[in-house]
Amino acid sequence: MRSRYLIAVGGNVRHPRYGSPPKVLRAALRALDGEKGIKLKAASRIVASAPLGPSQRRYANAAVIVRSKLDPPALLARLQAIEHRFARRRRGRRWGARTLDLDIVLWSMGAWASPGLAIPHPAYRTRGFVLAPALTIARDWRDPLTVLTIAHLAARLTRRTPLPIRQPGRALSSVGRATDF
Ligand code: ATP
Ligand code: CA
Ligand code: CA
Repeated sequence: MRSRYLIAVGGNVRHPRYGSPPKVLRAALRALDGEKGIKLKAASRIVASAPLGPSQRRYANAAVIVRSKLDPPALLARLQAIEHRFARRRRGRRWGARTLDLDIVLWSMGAWASPGLAIPHPAYRTRGFVLAPALTIARDWRDPLTVLTIAHLAARLTRRTPLPIRQPGRALSSVGRATDF
C-alpha cells in the first residue's frame, strides 16, 4: 500500500560537483524524485540553520513529503544509498560535517520501531531546523506519539514548552533561527 513520509534533508559540506550545501540539497531532491517507486509530493524552501554539535559549518535544511509503496526499512536503505551517492563522509561521529543527511521524520501509517530505525525520528521534536521547513509543507501532520501537529510542535519549541514525552537531552535550536538562503 502506498504511504507518505516526511523526510528531513540536511547538509553542511560543499560537493565537488554540485557546489554549496543549498545546491547539494537541490540536487538531492531531484535524485529523490528520480528514484523508482518514490514520488516527491511537496518540498519546502531550503533554509540555513546554525551548526549542531562539533561541526562549525552552517547547515542547509529542507523538508519533503514523498509518496511510496516502500516500507520504512526499504525507504531508509534507498535514502542511505542516495547519501552514499552524494559522497557523504561519516568521520565516525554523529552531527559531524556531512554532504547530505536524509532522515525519516514521520510516516502516514504511524510509528515504526526496528533495529536501526525509529519513526517518528526520536529527536526531531526539539529541532527547529527540522520543524521550520516541515511547518511549511506539513503543518497539520500529527505526530502519532505526542498526538501534536507539526504546528503545535513548532509553537512549543519557540515557547520552550516541555514536551509530554521524554526527549534525549540535546541542544535546542529555535525555529526562529532558520533563515532563507
Ligand atoms: P540524528 O539521527 O540524531 O539526526 P544523524 O542523522 O547524524 O543523527 P546518522 O549517522 O545519519 O545520524 O544515522 C545514524 C543511524 O540512525 C542510521 O544508521 C539509521 O539506522 C538510524 N536511524 C534511526 N531512525 C532513523 C530515522 N527515522 N531516519 C534515519 N535514520 C534513522
Ligand atoms: Ca540527522
Ligand atoms: Ca541521518
